[in-house]
Amino acid sequence: MRVAIATFGCKLNQYETQLMIEQLQRNGYEVVGVDEEADFYIINSCAVTSKASKEARMLAKRVKRKGMVIYTGCDSYLEKKLEGDVILTGNSFKNSIVEVLKKQIANISEESKFYPLNSTITSFSEKSRAFVKIQEGCNNHCTYCIIPFLRGRERDKDESMVIEEIKRLSKSYPEIVITGTNIGSYKNLKGLIEKISKIDGEFRVRISSIEPMYVDFELIDMIKDSTKISKHLHIPLQSGSEKLLKLMGRRYKKDRFRQIVEYCHKRGIFVGTDVIVGFYGEGEAEFKETYSFIEELPLSFGHVFSYSKRPFTPAERINLTLPKGPVVRERNRILRELFSKKTLESIKSLKGKEVEVVVEPTIVKTEKGEFFKAVSSEYVKVLVKSFKKGLVKCRLVDASNGFGYGQWHG
Ligand code: SF4
Repeated sequence: MRVAIATFGCKLNQYETQLMIEQLQRNGYEVVGVDEEADFYIINSCAVTSKASKEARMLAKRVKRKGMVIYTGCDSYLEKKLEGDVILTGNSFKNSIVEVLKKQIANISEESKFYPLNSTITSFSEKSRAFVKIQEGCNNHCTYCIIPFLRGRERDKDESMVIEEIKRLSKSYPEIVITGTNIGSYKNLKGLIEKISKIDGEFRVRISSIEPMYVDFELIDMIKDSTKISKHLHIPLQSGSEKLLKLMGRRYKKDRFRQIVEYCHKRGIFVGTDVIVGFYGEGEAEFKETYSFIEELPLSFGHVFSYSKRPFTPAERINLTLPKGPVVRERNRILRELFSKKTLESIKSLKGKEVEVVVEPTIVKTEKGEFFKAVSSEYVKVLVKSFKKGLVKCRLVDASNGFGYGQWHG
């Protein structure tokens, strides 16, 4: 773990900074300069002049976006406005700075460990869709991801509680989205889907993002055969380079991903994905590999993220360089363009067909006029001329700019 320290003011502060550095290094922390990336930023402040206070406070505000800030030194007794944004600790804690850091790390995981998973909701702020949380936490520790530190270990909501919640919400919402940190880890996801499929009523359930390791042919067949589950999966790929998948700590091979996507495609299930560009070790060759892999696959949608360093994550120990900012921006743009083409192709594949949509009470303006936005079972954005409640069918008559245009019957 990397800790950056900035020192303001007198010799005593400088001495105490050295005291903290030695304690940290003895305990295996890497101490770096305050302009470098770090998990924690310790600001050893001074209050002897208002200028000294101001400089230390400004630095705290600047680095709080990059990592957790421990604000110590004399100004920590005066500056209460920073509270909430930083951890204020008085001078006496400099003798036990390692314990202060350990307590913060423990607080994060304790808080998430005890986050209750026994609560349900009865309504939702969106008009047409409601979300139901089925699990919390992730044990995977993909090397770039901070989520396991913030959400803790995996734990499931009781199956009967999920079913009751869906039954209740489905009376008011035509679409329910089941969600969680890592829903694929739910102990009996197939059993849950089977039970959801037997619930009476005019509604559908969408499975939110699910990691490739948890998607198998049996699950895909269940989705295809269920009248209640949307014909869409969001399966994060992250990279089409085997080398990068390994560096990212992803637990699947790209061939497995290909098999799943093709199997879904043949069964009319649309697949969206996420990709990260600009990760450690992504040279031109690795990027091209990712591009060609995506190009070949029948994917209907893609989010492209540019990698950004996150505190606590194992990726920060990878001894490789990151591609430069302009290169990453260009790769991001190239992939977004590719995904736009793929989205349009997949919408066009539905042209002339009947799709089942949920209309949102949101007006969208396009070059063709004003429309209501609807979402199909395949997660295609469909524009329709008038609002209708519930699950309704329309014919897809046109496609452009990431939208399908729907026409009501009659
Ligand atoms: S990327 Fe997803 S699967 Fe990987 S550690 Fe983060 S939450 Fe878990």
